[in-house]
Amino acid sequence: MSKFWSPAIRELTPYVPGEQPRERLIKLNTNENPYPPAPAVEAALRDFPADHLRRYPEPTSLALREALAEELGVETEQVFVGNGSDEVLALAFQAFFRQERPLEMPAISYSFYPVYCRLYGVDRRTHPLDDQWRVDLDAFGHDTGGVIFANPNAPTGHGHGREAIAGLLERVTESVVLVDEAYVDFGGESSVPLVERFPNLLVTGTFSKSRSLAGLRLGYAVGSRELIEGLERVKDSFNSYPVDSLASALGIASLSDRGHFDACREAVITTRERTRIRLEALGFKVLPSQANFVLVTHPELDAAQLFVGLRERGVLVRHFNTDVLRDHLRISIGTDDEMESLIEALETQFR
Ligand code: PMP
Repeated sequence: MSKFWSPAIRELTPYVPGEQPRERLIKLNTNENPYPPAPAVEAALRDFPADHLRRYPEPTSLALREALAEELGVETEQVFVGNGSDEVLALAFQAFFRQERPLEMPAISYSFYPVYCRLYGVDRRTHPLDDQWRVDLDAFGHDTGGVIFANPNAPTGHGHGREAIAGLLERVTESVVLVDEAYVDFGGESSVPLVERFPNLLVTGTFSKSRSLAGLRLGYAVGSRELIEGLERVKDSFNSYPVDSLASALGIASLSDRGHFDACREAVITTRERTRIRLEALGFKVLPSQANFVLVTHPELDAAQLFVGLRERGVLVRHFNTDVLRDHLRISIGTDDEMESLIEALETQFR
């Protein structure tokens, strides 16, 4: 604690991301994509003239926003880009959620949301998941200052369909509903087509997961022009350049290669289902997932010990030390070979 800290950060427990280990481990702890970015990204990286870095980036990231708008079937003015969706989320908290009424969110969701609430002085109201560990959409919308959740949710993996989200938006019309679609490309249904109908819907997405570009820091938001303008107002006030020139160029290259994108996400989905069957055969309860991870629990094994046992055998997964998740492990979906190593390491726990 320092006397120089503002009250907001004195009370803050900073978000602790999953470990990025130095030693070689099979890394299934931060939901990265096991496959490389599209070959077009590699080519664009090779061809990028270093001399371009002498200049500031184009201030509206127009070319990247145009490419994203085309990909998502919206107008360029409905797209905002930022340095990872974490930054886009931070800007959305500042632009939309500093109201008298609390922001609503599921009790189990992306653990960055409560951090941002503290940081930006936003009150929150949490709602438990339903009995199948799905986000309980019916719970939201009573005297609300906004709603935020991930869809598919993290770390549970369940995703609601577009019609269910539309049902929520029919009821919540006076504040922003933010649907975080970081994992939507692994079998979820995107709410982006709803932005035409609902001016208070903001959908965020990322290049970190399905596009294998977590190291680049590229995320985006899609919504009505008034919401995008709200984000731009906050952004312009502290750094008027949305994303750097290299990230723009590589993001555009990634969007140009649909074949690679589809092949990688289909491979992840296939491996996920294969892994689920293998884990269930070992006695694990596996929550159905539309994301690139599964949340599992075992009736006889202690999750914290399992985490340590796996790490000793070279496999890193995620254990959350919170009351509700203490019995669970979140396992990112890697390649088939990596998942085979996971299963072998787990089997040793039963001997
Ligand atoms: N939303 C959710 C639900 C996430 O799990 C993550 C990744 N930790 C993010 C957003 C942020 O992703 P990024 O900043 O890499 O775009």
